[in-house]
Formats: sequence, C-alpha cells, structure tokens
Amino acid sequence: MTNMHYLITGGLGFIGTNFIRHLLDKKQDIQITNIDKISYGANPINLKEFETQKNYKFIKGDICDKELVKKSIEEVDMIVNFAAESHVDRSIADAWPFFKSNTEGVLNILEILRNSNKKTRFIQIGTDESYGDIIDGSFKEDDRLKPSSPYAASKASADMLCLAHQRTYGLEVILTRCTNNYGPFQFPEKLIPKTIIRAHQNLKIPIYGAGKNVRDWIYVTDHCTAIDAILKNGKSSEIYNISSGNEIENIKVVETILQLMQKPRELIEFVEDRPGHDIRYSLDSTKIRKELNWKPKNEFTEDIKKTVEWYLKEEKWWKPLLNDQIIHPTPWKMKW
Ligand code: NAD
Repeated sequence: MTNMHYLITGGLGFIGTNFIRHLLDKKQDIQITNIDKISYGANPINLKEFETQKNYKFIKGDICDKELVKKSIEEVDMIVNFAAESHVDRSIADAWPFFKSNTEGVLNILEILRNSNKKTRFIQIGTDESYGDIIDGSFKEDDRLKPSSPYAASKASADMLCLAHQRTYGLEVILTRCTNNYGPFQFPEKLIPKTIIRAHQNLKIPIYGAGKNVRDWIYVTDHCTAIDAILKNGKSSEIYNISSGNEIENIKVVETILQLMQKPRELIEFVEDRPGHDIRYSLDSTKIRKELNWKPKNEFTEDIKKTVEWYLKEEKWWKPLLNDQIIHPTPWKMKW
C-alpha cells in the first residue's frame, strides 16, 4: 500500500517508539502522525532524529482532546493507539489518571470515529493483564476478562468499549492483547530496565514477594512485527493474542541479568508483595500465528543480553529520568 497515513498515539513511550522506528526503518511509502501528551513515561528525545523527515510529524496532545483527535483522524487511514498510563504500581496508588487516558481516551477516539464519514481502521493495543492471571494453561481470545489491578481494569474497559462500538456502529476495530515486552526505550520504573540500572549502580534490587510470579516475555520488535502483520492482514472485529512463549519467574529474570552483568545475587532484596499481584500470565497466540503467519524471531537469552547492553550504553537516555519514586521499593505506597 502506498502513502498510507498512520495516526500513532502514545508514540513517545516504550512500544510506540519502537513501532514508529520499525515502520520508518522499513522506508515504506508511509506518513506518520504521532500524538503524545508527553506524560512522565514519554521521552521526547526518542524520535527527535525523525522530526526533520517529511513523512513524520509529532504533535504534543492528549487523546482525550476532542478537537485534536477529530482533526487528526480526518487526515489518516489507520489509527494505532498505544497511549496509556502503563504502570500497575501507580494505578494502585491512584486509579484516576488510568481511567482518564486508558478508557475515556479510547472512548473519545471511538466516538469521533462513529461520527466520521470515513471508515478509518482502529487498532487498540491491549494487554494480557486484562484476562487476569491463570495457574494452568493459557488464555484464548474469547476467554473472559478478569482484571486484577486498576491498570488492567482500565485496559479491559477500553476493550469492552471497542467491542461494543464495533458491534453497534460497525466500526473497523481490531484488538490486540500482548504479554510483557522488554527491550530499548522502556521507562526505568519497569522490572527489566530497573534491574539493569540498579545493578549498574550497585543498588539493591527490590523483588515483590518471593519473586515467583511468572510473566511471558516478548522482545519489543516481535510485538512490532505482530502489529505490522495485523495492520496488513488483520480482520476487523477480531482480537489477536500476541505472545512469544518465554514464561519466566521474576526472580529468574533478575538472576539472569545479574549474571550477565557479573553482579552479586546479594543485590536482590525481597520486599512486601504488590497488592493483588497476578501469579502467572499466559496467552495462547495460535490464532495470529496461523491466520496471519506471524512468528516471533526472539530468543530470550540473546535478546536480554542485547537489552542489557543497550541500557549500559545509553546512560544519557535513562539518567535524567531517574527520581525518588522510581527507586522506591514499594511504589504503590507513594504519593504520585
Ligand atoms: P509507556 O508508558 O512507555 O508509553 C505510553 C505513552 O502514552 C507515553 O509516551 C505517554 O506520554 C503517552 N500517553 C499517556 N496518556 C496519554 C494521553 N492521554 N494522550 C496521549 N498520549 C498519552 O507504555 P508502553 O509500555 O509503551 O505501552 C504502550 C501500550 O501497550 C499501552 O497501551 C499498554 O497498555 C500496552 N501494552 C504494554 C505492554 C508492556 O509490556 N509494556 C504489554 C502489553 C500491552
């Protein structure tokens, strides 16, 4: 497809940055408009180098802003929404900003789409956390949603609104639900960058509870290729789980990073568990693999090494982002 114009929202965050880089690196004949409100988790330097390119435009703005979203949607063929408050611990401290951006922001986009004359396709980027946790087996796309945290509830609510707007108004909506991402440009409050950065500084690394919680890790570029496959061949009104099959206990993730960095295990400090902490996430991603012929290239042992190297090399990227809240061992008890 030529001259496809994408509206990417939340494109200065972790996954949005990687996705825009992925699209621009392929040098396709595309146009990108990126709307991001530059909340604490965004880093304006992430895509600075592209701002001189004709096919990339950045707008500082909020997906809750009716006029801005309306005007932007009129110009594009496709919308991919990454914009969200994304940290579970912060949502436990204060759920309101999560419902504002993650739920009301999505409703704003949907309402503008239903009043538009154009059939613009909308891809809502969702999370495995909407299903809640699972002890055995893996969730499929039609399984019930049972979120545990305010963050997950705000994302599940957005999914519900998308499904309702698709059914009632016939909107072109596709939902994705992906597992935990890792890789470059992730804000230092999240487990993997936080571990690397603290280990580098020889500081204690807080582990919630006994560290036995299991996450299924996907390298961020694999998530990007999955979204790309959905943009090209995904079917409207479908939900696609995205996962890589790297289920690992948190403690093992931290131990692996410490080993790679040749740091002592004694840096680990077990702290009070996060309230409502999900035990295990697991997704069945057969559908996207079979129907869209997608598969991850990722190899955890290789890509965690690449990730450690990136953070060690890019100290100037993460150093200005550090503050007392990020280094707090039980952040859900903080005032944000
Ligand atoms: P992030 O926090 O790194 O980035 C979110 C971006 O959205 C930030 O740049 C922020 O400024 C922007 N934003 C927030 N509210 C906004 C608003 N109202 N208007 C405009 N911009 C706004 O998050 P991320 O890790 O890149 O996650 C991106 C999306 O992917 C989120 O929707 C998240 O729920 C989903 N997701 C993330 C993961 C993961 O492991 N990180 C896994 C599955 C799904």
